[in-house]
Amino acid sequence: MIIRFANKVMQPIRNKVGMPLRIHSWLRVETYNKQIGGAFKSFHIDGGACDFSVIGIKIEDAKKLIEPYLGVWGARMEIDTTDWVHVDCRPRKQGEPVTFYGRKIK
Ligand SMILES: [Zn+2]
Repeated sequence: MIIRFANKVMQPIRNKVGMPLRIHSWLRVETYNKQIGGAFKSFHIDGGACDFSVIGIKIEDAKKLIEPYLGVWGARMEIDTTDWVHVDCRPRKQGEPVTFYGRKIK
């Protein structure tokens, strides 16, 4: 999953923002995901989710740049993060928005 996610979502994000990405968390082993209070069955476990910031761009501005393309890339984005952008490739139900409210992790 991680290679597909890198090709279909993360590289297009990198191209769109035009700046390097700083990866905060991408692939997590299950025990580490549990340890930090990550979501049960988190897409991070298979590398299908990534938390990142964009060098030189505020988190909120990076989200605004990315959001219009999430549907095209088959990705979703967590709305309420403040220190990083979380995107993942969890499939959406028909009509389900590309953004969602997550839950705070430690
Ligand atoms: Zn995440």
